[in-house]
Amino acid sequence: MFKVITPKVENGIWLVRHLRTASGDWNVSLIKNMFIENDANAILSIPCSLNQRDDSLCWHYTTDENYNMKSGYKLGMSLNIKESTSETRKTGFNWKGIRNLNLPTKIKIFLWTSLREWLPTQVNLARRNISVGCLCPVCCNSFETTVHALWGCSRLKKVRNMYGFLHGVNFANSLCFQDFFSSCTQNLGKKELELLCVVLWRVWFLRNKLVQGVGQRGLENVVPWSEEFLEEFMVVNEKWCVGLGMVVRDRFGAVKACSTQRIEARYSVSVAEALAILRGISFAIYCGYDHLIIESDALGVVNMINSGIEISADIGVIIEDIKCLLQNITDARVKYVSRKANVVAHSLSKLALTLDVSYFWLDSFPLAVERCI
Ligand SMILES: [Zn+2]
Repeated sequence: MFKVITPKVENGIWLVRHLRTASGDWNVSLIKNMFIENDANAILSIPCSLNQRDDSLCWHYTTDENYNMKSGYKLGMSLNIKESTSETRKTGFNWKGIRNLNLPTKIKIFLWTSLREWLPTQVNLARRNISVGCLCPVCCNSFETTVHALWGCSRLKKVRNMYGFLHGVNFANSLCFQDFFSSCTQNLGKKELELLCVVLWRVWFLRNKLVQGVGQRGLENVVPWSEEFLEEFMVVNEKWCVGLGMVVRDRFGAVKACSTQRIEARYSVSVAEALAILRGISFAIYCGYDHLIIESDALGVVNMINSGIEISADIGVIIEDIKCLLQNITDARVKYVSRKANVVAHSLSKLALTLDVSYFWLDSFPLAVERCI
């Protein structure tokens, strides 16, 4: 499905291994010089294995690289967004503007679905003769249109109040979501609009939790959560590097050693998290530790390592490397911890992005760590 579009250059480089350094990582400067930006980005997003592996086919659009209906549907929707950019003249809405926002594809698809009034709100379901009522399940006070669910609901007052920059945006419950969003695109700067899109996406996620009976905790944190989400997304997408942070603690929880590593690449968040685990294990081995509990806040990656299922490709190469390394350690297991319990490693990964090379500390620790201990 993916094909290099850079015209061929006769420079004697025909094999993938010619694009890697002696340590097995991508030769970033060679790749940047040799390929156009899109191709270079795609190549540098592929993780390199420490071990020899056979080639295998994989489906790029799921975390475990296996095809499922949901991912096929999402891909179809994202292709629809591309087609919709030519619909501007027909509908009067600037679809191209959405496509150009610097946001994850899943949020663009969410926006596209919302703007099409395809989001399964109570009113939209009633239009399709599916719902038994039209009332908002959150406030139980108004009809749940798309614009009500995502912005107008009385329970979202605090979220709305946190948006000083929304002065001038035309909002009324009678508006359809497309009109509300058009008003936002006209009145907000690009960064503000991107933050608003993440907020809307998060509000819908929490609304669904409530409908599923899981509660709606977190509504008061929507804006800071969205700011952090966007910040992390920008870091991964705008920089040619990934920051990794590793912490070694003893059985009483005291920090014994820590390390930062900066890798020149454009890996996805999952691949970067898997790499942090891999480098963390190598670091612990290097420090001479045995009987390890490796903790990560990346639940999906931890599940992949513990599942015993072979992951087809991409992140699978790192998962296999982790499993190989674990076999060499007496009593080691990988376990999930919440983000709150992983603050030190998280601070270190941010610190890594500001440093030119990798560092490790054994006795005294950097300020970013001291503050969190
Ligand atoms: Zn409501």
